Formats: sequence, C-alpha cells, structure tokens
Amino acid sequence: MIEVSNLQKYFGDKQVLKDISCEIKDNEVVCVIGPSGSGKSTFLRCLNALEKAQEGIIKVNEFVVTDPRLDHNKLRAHAGMVFQRFNLFPHMTALENITLAPIKVKKESTEVARQKGRELLKRVGLGDKENSYPHELSGGQQQRVAIARALAMDPQVLLFDEPTSALDPEMVGEVLDVIKSLAHGGKTMIIVTHEMGFARQVSDRVFFMDGGQILEVGTPEKIFTKADGERTRLFLSKIL
Ligand code: ADP
Ligand code: MG
Repeated sequence: MIEVSNLQKYFGDKQVLKDISCEIKDNEVVCVIGPSGSGKSTFLRCLNALEKAQEGIIKVNEFVVTDPRLDHNKLRAHAGMVFQRFNLFPHMTALENITLAPIKVKKESTEVARQKGRELLKRVGLGDKENSYPHELSGGQQQRVAIARALAMDPQVLLFDEPTSALDPEMVGEVLDVIKSLAHGGKTMIIVTHEMGFARQVSDRVFFMDGGQILEVGTPEKIFTKADGERTRLFLSKIL
C-alpha cells in the first residue's frame, strides 16, 4: 500500500504540493487528472524519490521514501516509472534497453535477463523488434519498449507520467491498450493522463489535482458524471 501524509513540496519559495494526503491500495489503479502546472508530475516524482519533499511522510509498501536513509535503487526497482518522453538509450537495442537494469542493478545473469526481456517484448506486442534501435521504432513502439523496461525490474508499483502525451494520435491507442492489459494484474498503478476515456475505463479511483492539492477523489463514474467540486467540473467541461 502507498500512504502519503501531509506532503509539502516547494521549489524555492513556491509551494507546488500543498498538504497532500492519500492512501492507495495494492493492485489499485488510480488516474491523476488536472490542469497543467497543478503538481501531477511532481507528486509522482516524490513517490519515486526523484524529487525530495520538504515535509510529510511517504510510504510505498515497505519503503519509507521520506527517510534520508532510503536506498534509491531498491525503491526504483520496486516502483518503476514510465515518462512522457520514453528516455530509451539511443545506442542500445530494444532488448539491451530492457536488460540493462536487471543485469546491472538486480545482478541477473545476461541469459536470464535476455529471456525475460524477450517475453516482455512479446507481452507489449514487439516480439520481432528485439534488435531494433530506438530510432528504428515509432513513438508508440518506443513507449512500449519503455514499459517493458519498467516491467523488467518486476516492480510492485508502476508510475506513468502522461505516457501518451508525446505520441502522434494514431499511436495513443496501442500504448493505452498495453497499459490496460497490465491493470489489476497484481501491480499498483498510478497514471497521470489527459485521456479521459481511458481513465474512466481503467481506474478504480480518479484523483483531481489543482493548485498543488488533491481537490477531489472518487470513482470514475462519480468524477466524470457528477463531480462535487466546481473546479473539477470546470476542468472536465473544458477537455471532454
Ligand atoms: P503538472 O505535471 O501537473 O503539469 P508539475 O508537477 O510539472 O505540474 O509542476 C507543478 C509546478 O511546479 C509548476 O508551477 C511548475 O512550473 C513547477 N515546477 C516543476 N518542476 C520544477 C522545477 N524543477 N523547478 C522549479 N519549478 C518547478
Ligand atoms: Mg506533468
């Protein structure tokens, strides 16, 4: 389970996360929606210790993320992140991108890592692309490799930060389909997205963020059809 208590995050003197508290259960799928600049990415990055919070407590299963003694490598093996820009290593093949961390960080043998990597490539529909370099792949294919790379560490938690925002429209569906296929398969997933149809289909709960706060939490049914908050409704009226 993920537990966040009274999280406060500043960049300089600007407060970007204001007293965030929430709980997310094992195997739950949460979509985070909200306007640009509302703190969605910063919130995800705090969960993964890519950003340091000034105040508050974050627990991700057995990891106390806000503890200064945190082992960052172990946390990031446990909670994988998929970014808007796929961030693949350009000089490595798809399979090498996937096997790098399992070999270096988890000390898996090359043979085991490659075998697992091939299975993961199949799982994201790229069984025939193991030797392709990122520049030989479409944006949608690169993002699917990035998802396979995150899965290769066998994380319990997957964090997605606008995984389809950098894609041409015709490639959004194939990436969302892969994410959907992972949902409720034993991993906790937190997905920042502007794809409202997807959020509605895949999530157990939706968090609406604005101005550094989680302003409303509810089932997708509730948030998308009868949100309580004025700001939630205003935001949705602009993008739906
Ligand atoms: P979102 O993902 O919802 O668009 P962000 O978490 O990226 O929002 O940003 C929240 C606020 O924090 C914005 O005002 C943004 O400009 C600011 N911010 C984000 N990252 C940094 C940074 N590294 N340094 C200074 N300000 C930042
Ligand atoms: Mg963002």
